[in-house]
Amino acid sequence: MQKIQGDILYAASDIVNFLECAHLTRLDLINLDTPLPKDEESEEVQLLQDRGYAHEAAFSDMLATRHQSICDIASQASEIEQMREATLSAMDAGIEIICQATLKKDSLLGHIDFLRRVPVPSRFGDYSYEVIDTKLARKIKTKFIIQTACYSSLLSSVQEVTPERMHIVFGNRAEESLHYADYAYYFTTILARFSDFVQGRQQDTYPSPCSHCDYCCWRTLCKLRWIEDDHLSQVAGITKLQIKKLQAAGITTLAELGTCTTDLKVAKMSTATLEKLSGQASLQLQARENGRRPVELLPQQPGKKGFARLPQPAAGDLFFDMEGDPLTDGGLEYLFGIYFFSAGKPLFNLSSRKDITRKYN
Ligand code: SF4
Repeated sequence: MQKIQGDILYAASDIVNFLECAHLTRLDLINLDTPLPKDEESEEVQLLQDRGYAHEAAFSDMLATRHQSICDIASQASEIEQMREATLSAMDAGIEIICQATLKKDSLLGHIDFLRRVPVPSRFGDYSYEVIDTKLARKIKTKFIIQTACYSSLLSSVQEVTPERMHIVFGNRAEESLHYADYAYYFTTILARFSDFVQGRQQDTYPSPCSHCDYCCWRTLCKLRWIEDDHLSQVAGITKLQIKKLQAAGITTLAELGTCTTDLKVAKMSTATLEKLSGQASLQLQARENGRRPVELLPQQPGKKGFARLPQPAAGDLFFDMEGDPLTDGGLEYLFGIYFFSAGKPLFNLSSRKDITRKYN
C-alpha cells in the first residue's frame, strides 16, 4: 500500500497479506503515517525476486516472438497516473500484448505482468483482454488466484466486459488457465472484508505467528512484542490450536504454562499433551532464569517409537545428506555428504554434483 497526496492505494499483494495476517495490514497502515522500523528482505527473498524478474523477462521475450504488437508500459512512464493512461492508450490501440499494465479503480491499484488480447468484444472494439501473471512456483496457490482475480476485477471495470479466463505461467513455463467467474464471488467477499478492515471497522489485532512471519518485514517488531508479552508462541513446538486452548483455560504466558500445577484442566487437550507443553515451557523458563539450558532425558517409550525405530548401530552405517535447489528446472541435487566410520575414526566425505559426474561418466 502507498499514500499519494493523502489517498491510500492498495495493491493485490495487500489483500493477499491481509489473508495471511491482519496484524501485518494494521502495521502497514500505521507505517503510512508513522514510519515503523522495517526488516530488510532476507537473501532468500531477494534471490526469489531476482529469479521472478528473470522468469518474467524470459516469458516477455517469448511473447515478442509470437505476437506482432507488444508494448511495455514501464518503459513509457513511471508515475502511476501516466502508467494508467499509457495502459488505456495501448488497450485502445488494440496492442496484442501489454506488459506491466497499470489499472486502477477507486483505491485499488494493479500492476499486471501481461494483458493478452482476445477476440471478445468490449468497449474498445471487437476485442478485449485477459490477465497473464508469471510465478516462479510450479503449482497453483490460493494467493495466485486471489491476485489474478483482483487484476481481472480491475480489468472488467476498465474494458466493461468480464474476462472469461485468467492465466498463470509457472516457473517451468507451464500455463494454467482459470475461469474468472469461478472465483469472482470469492474475491468480492475477500475484498469486502479487506475494505472493512482498512476503513477501521475492525482493527483489534494481535501478531499471531504464522507461516508468513519468516518473510514479513515486521518480524522483529512482532518478536519483541512476543517477548514483552511472554507469549505462548515462544514455547518450542507449540501449535496455534494449542495456544488457543490454553488461552481459553486462562494460561496466556510461557511462565504460567511452565509453572502450572498438575490439576490444571484444558478443554480438548489430553493430559499427556499438557504435561509435554508444560515441561517444555518449564525448561525454557529455567534457562531464562538461571542462564543455563537444563537437559531432561525423556523416558523411553514402550514399543518402536522415536529413536527406538532406528536399527541397532553397525560398523558399516552410512549417514547421507544432500542439498538441492528446487527452483532449477526439474530440480537439482548438487551437494552430497556421507558421514561414516573407518578403522574406528569418524570421517566426512563431501562431493559436488560435478565430482560425481566426473567420476561416473
Ligand atoms: S511477523 Fe508474523 S505476526 Fe507479525 S505482522 Fe508479520 S506475519 Fe503478522
